[in-house]
Amino acid sequence: MSSLFLKNANVIDVATGNMSLQSIRIENGIIQEIGKNVIKNNSAVSIDLKGDFVMPGLCDAHVHVTAFTADFARLKNTSPFYVGIKALEILRGMLSRGFTTVRDAGGADWGLAKHISENPTSGPRLLFCGHALSQTGGHGDMRGPGENSLHQCFCCAGLGHICDGLPEVLRASREEIRRGATHIKIMASGGVSSPTDRITSTQFSEEEIKAIVNEANAANITVMAHAYTARAINRAIKCGVKSIEHGNLLNTESVDLLIKYDAYLVPTLIIYKALIEQGVEAGLTQDLVNKTYEVLDAGIDALELAYKNKVQIVYGTDLLGIMHPHQLEEFTLRSKVIPSLQLIQQATINAAKLFNMEKEIGQVNEGFFADLIVLNKNPVDNINVLTDPKKYLRNVIKNGYVCNTN
Ligand code: ZN
Ligand code: ZN
Repeated sequence: MSSLFLKNANVIDVATGNMSLQSIRIENGIIQEIGKNVIKNNSAVSIDLKGDFVMPGLCDAHVHVTAFTADFARLKNTSPFYVGIKALEILRGMLSRGFTTVRDAGGADWGLAKHISENPTSGPRLLFCGHALSQTGGHGDMRGPGENSLHQCFCCAGLGHICDGLPEVLRASREEIRRGATHIKIMASGGVSSPTDRITSTQFSEEEIKAIVNEANAANITVMAHAYTARAINRAIKCGVKSIEHGNLLNTESVDLLIKYDAYLVPTLIIYKALIEQGVEAGLTQDLVNKTYEVLDAGIDALELAYKNKVQIVYGTDLLGIMHPHQLEEFTLRSKVIPSLQLIQQATINAAKLFNMEKEIGQVNEGFFADLIVLNKNPVDNINVLTDPKKYLRNVIKNGYVCNTN
């Protein structure tokens, strides 16, 4: 593995927002040494950054890398080979925007993660759950009301796996864990893109959620839960779920519970904006797009309430199909209520903690993966530096490999 030497790097400490001019010695994909007097290894490729800013690569805690279309019913009926090829295009796009680790919330599997670990420049580090677990008629059940047959197997491309009752949820959890899932995803409330459920419904019984959490914890992994309403959110947290996805309709009790249970909130504001603007073009019906309005405005209020009460918040986007290029605009939406440094933390150290990778990613530190982005302006002063990669992003470095140069 090649070694890399970055000199005159303005290294940003994302914990404090401070920075200083240093050199970084990278070997075997790991940051070996940072400092003013670091010596270059003879064989290392040296890059003079001339004072450009270096920060950890970004994390997105809620993506769907196989969702080349927003039409999930179509996704399920597509060849997994085709879906895999399309997923690589989506992953490459993410990497070129500065994302070096992403957590998939349904669809990606060990095969994609294996390809990326063998070819680090083909996409961000990929955390995957396999299929998202859903009850019959839940957010992972893509059948319309007139459809009665259920065709599902674990090898099919598709977002969800339907399971009901303790034996089935245990079986489904264990199947995903057997395939190497780095977390389990459950649908704990209704959603926008599923045809038959209501956003206000809770999904899975508490017994089912607790059983899934127990299985995940037995394997030392966590559970992420799709949930909109306070009712759904609060019961999921009490059942041991580690991260609430979306959370648009949370209340003050949700905020208290998130803190009490050391759980995380992963808002995904950009998907609602994108759905309203592009949903129909992306293949969804107007009826589904209309459901979006119910949750859009609430999302920003929820984010503000959570932030003011010091909830641990992580960056997430949930984009689908042609909407993927909006991935960085989540920063723009959140910047209405959250300052730049804290936004950067949501996409770096907070995400790393949620992923149980706080000793490996999310900071520019010795012993951490060399997952870095190089910017020609300081994003701590202005978050728009991150949202305009064509103008400001000079390099993405992943695992010590320089992936792209603008
Ligand atoms: Zn969701
Ligand atoms: Zn999602």
